[in-house]
Amino acid sequence: MNTIRNIVIVGGGTAGWMTAAAFAKALGPTYSIRLIESDEIGIIGVGEASIPNLTEYNRALGIDEDEFLRATRGSFKLGIEFVNWGAVGERYIHGFGKIGGADEALPFYHFWLRAAQAGRAEPLGEYSINTVAPRQAKFMRARADMAGSPLGDIAHAYHFDAGLYAKFLRGFAEQRGVRRLEGKVQQVLLRDADGFIEAVVMESGERVAGDFFIDCSGMRGLLIQQSLQVGYEDWSQWLPCDRAIAVPCESVAPLLPMTRSTAHSAGWQWRIPLQHRIGNGHVYSSQYMDKQEAESILMNNLDGAATAAPRHLSFRTGRAKKFWDRNCVAVGLSSGFLEPLESTSIHLIHMSVARILDFFPRQGFEPADIAEYNALTSVEFERIRDFLILHYKLTRRDDSPFWNYCRTMEIPEGLQRKMDLFAANGRTYRDGVELFVETSWIQVMVGQGLMPRGHHPFADQPSEEEVLAHVNNVRQVVAKCANAMPAHAEFIARHCAAT
Ligand code: FAD
Repeated sequence: MNTIRNIVIVGGGTAGWMTAAAFAKALGPTYSIRLIESDEIGIIGVGEASIPNLTEYNRALGIDEDEFLRATRGSFKLGIEFVNWGAVGERYIHGFGKIGGADEALPFYHFWLRAAQAGRAEPLGEYSINTVAPRQAKFMRARADMAGSPLGDIAHAYHFDAGLYAKFLRGFAEQRGVRRLEGKVQQVLLRDADGFIEAVVMESGERVAGDFFIDCSGMRGLLIQQSLQVGYEDWSQWLPCDRAIAVPCESVAPLLPMTRSTAHSAGWQWRIPLQHRIGNGHVYSSQYMDKQEAESILMNNLDGAATAAPRHLSFRTGRAKKFWDRNCVAVGLSSGFLEPLESTSIHLIHMSVARILDFFPRQGFEPADIAEYNALTSVEFERIRDFLILHYKLTRRDDSPFWNYCRTMEIPEGLQRKMDLFAANGRTYRDGVELFVETSWIQVMVGQGLMPRGHHPFADQPSEEEVLAHVNNVRQVVAKCANAMPAHAEFIARHCAAT
């Protein structure tokens, strides 16, 4: 019999409710799951772009995709467009999904590299449905009956309203027995013997005891930092942005199925199109820009009229030194923060929840389980960190002190190795629990101007004309498929428009 039965989740943002919903589904009614949230404190409410893995979370919970998009006024996302990152005036899309043809023995990009190195290829973005379709504001779901065609390879994620998403998951969790307690946690009680969390005490005086505590209290890290004091590893020397301003604006046509990230002189601006509005934000470094200038850059670069006042946020990039300590695991912003450049925070919540279930304690807390959980999660955070640093390091911009710093900064050794490996013969490998696949790294490296000197020797086996014919054929098939796709707005109107 498992003695760990009584679970207390502190916080009801995206992290709290994603945890509660997944636990309710996976653990069933014999566990007590309580979630405490404070309406007065509220949620951060800015995480509105995801990556394709969220479709797996929804599927595991049995959430219908159309219902989810209707409830969150969501839209589809095929990738992220990066504007002005390599150099001012340049743009490329990091698309999800495959590049090139199906099941080739040698990855397609090596054939593309050979053609490109001979000066006879189009930009890499012409060879994937996930990068061609969004430029034309086209969208459809992958067709299971079209395996082998680009239309069978479409990989999608979502944009959604964060407040509506938390509400949607709350409904799901409460229906499955999660009990919500409203109010502020004022005190955390630790056991004298071992420092484990015994209970939290609410402002009302109510004492909420538990066996297992999940800290979803956001950046304040109420349990993991303020109470257990695990410490924080600061990564701002590599990711110097520490402020954000968020503002919604009116929608404009066409409805693009992609997030856009536009680099400015000391940071970058996001554009996330939903069904009823566009979410915008400016992420910047306070060391290089003051808040007035950052706000005026954002407000002068909106596509529609602003529909609310801009909201200013501060953050410190890095991670908790331990994600799991004693009987408490941090999930969401309490576990660390990596800026939203590649929309990875919600994915990290998903992974944390899945991993907690994987390592779910049985009769007490096993140090070996906790150590492994922490080791795996650290690697996952570090690989994403390196992928984000790549975007800053790999710039040729020299038009501001911020970009001069980023271009010339020292980077983690593993990232340097990865860049050197790719620069030689276009090789790149995904390691272990790393989130981003080879094609993600390649699109960013090539998109920001890191062109390898060589390619895999097997791409030399066919003649140059054969390689060109193959590469051109892929481009033509992709273009034809994108032409045949419906407009994104039309697809939403047909399947999942909010009423
Ligand atoms: P919060 O939303 O802050 O929730 C904290 C909860 O804890 C709240 O319910 C609060 O009431 C409760 N709480 C706190 N203290 C107490 C207390 N004392 N008593 C009771 N309750 C308490 N992620 C993405 O994946 N994609 C994106 O596009 C993206 N964009 C972002 C942009 C910015 C500028 C920032 C800062 C983050 C972004 N993120 C993004 C990250 C994303 O917002 C978070 O990962 C996500 O919202 C989860 O937040 P959370 O639930 O951990 O914290």
